[in-house]
Amino acid sequence: MMPFTLERPASLPAALRADAEFIAGGTDMVQLMQEHIRTPGRLIDLSDVLPRGILVDTDRARIDAGTSMEAAATYTPLSEAAPAVTMALIESASPQVRNLATMGGNLLQRTRCGYFRDVAVAACNKRRPGSGCAAIGGENRNFAVLGTSEQCIATHASDLAVALVALRAELDLDGPQGARHIALSDLHRSAADRPEIETTLRAGEVITAIEIPLDAASANSVYVKVRDRAAFEWALLSAAVGLRIEGGKITQARIAMGGVGTRPWLLDRVESALLGCAPTRAAVAEAVALATEGARGWGHNDFKITQMPVLLTRAIELAAAQAGERA
Ligand SMILES: Cc1cc2nc3c(=O)[nH]c(=O)nc-3n(C[C@H](O)[C@H](O)[C@H](O)COP(=O)(O)OP(=O)(O)OC[C@H]3O[C@@H](n4cnc5c(N)ncnc54)[C@H](O)[C@@H]3O)c2cc1C
Ligand code: SF4
Repeated sequence: MMPFTLERPASLPAALRADAEFIAGGTDMVQLMQEHIRTPGRLIDLSDVLPRGILVDTDRARIDAGTSMEAAATYTPLSEAAPAVTMALIESASPQVRNLATMGGNLLQRTRCGYFRDVAVAACNKRRPGSGCAAIGGENRNFAVLGTSEQCIATHASDLAVALVALRAELDLDGPQGARHIALSDLHRSAADRPEIETTLRAGEVITAIEIPLDAASANSVYVKVRDRAAFEWALLSAAVGLRIEGGKITQARIAMGGVGTRPWLLDRVESALLGCAPTRAAVAEAVALATEGARGWGHNDFKITQMPVLLTRAIELAAAQAGERA
């Protein structure tokens, strides 16, 4: 690890410095520093100053960014109001990691691209802008099929972000230029031009809280994840679906997928296609066919384009069954 200065500020305002990098639970940051992928000169520890806590109200859940993933995963009112979020958390990492890792840090973890995480690999535009992309033409089974470019094809790694994007979560941010509130879907950037710039956060800005609007679709939501092994593994593909069904027809749909995009991938065209339909096989098949619009395989990951509609159909069926039971 390269030498660095670690600061433990006494308050959140004192932490908001444009010239520093942050660490919270450290489960991703420490690994990246050990591997010399990230070499911050000045690191600010947020763990004592970020708010922690969860509030579930009738129409909104608020999760402070310093809350551990495990505290959120085991909070029953949240699992009743937005089960997809709980399922995504439980399917992430392990209890030990989740006890250290924070909700805010999860959304900002870096990609699992093996070329990015190996400094011995010269070509990685995300780590060394302008150097190329070793995954294109290399081993790319786990890589993205949506939002890619000749610059980068790495997937976004967070399971939680997929469930939250589907449920239209929003973020409270604070920084040297003041506080602001954004949609989570506006946080992550695609790889198109500058893959090294992954988010729309400003210098010195931190996430302070996550807000989830609660409704029938969030209550009837599921998260389904396909991975190579049952634990300690990121998604090959995943799907978050929330549905409201009234009088046998879908009146609200919330859909996103993970493991397929360079950011958590909102499928609003699939959502629109489902509205007003009964959740029959034919209607679902027609809607999920839209999920792969614009998808491009890079060789080893072509199977994801075939598997996306399969997994999405399964998730929609599960959410529809859940919505039917509650109707
Ligand atoms: C073995 C293992 C398995 C895993 N499996 C999964 C998995 O299956 N699914 C999954 O989604 N994740 C998985 N993870 C990733 C894990 O969930 C993340 O490492 C963790 O959530 C990051 O949170 P943290 O608080 O430790 O962040 P840190 O490592 O402290 O920070 C990560 C990044 O976020 C920034 N940051 C942290 N908090 C804030 C904030 N509030 N505002 C602004 N910036 C902030 C830091 O500057 C840094 O850039 C796994 C991790 C490990 C080690
Ligand atoms: S996919 Fe992106 S992160 Fe991976 S090697 Fe290519 S540029 Fe780097």
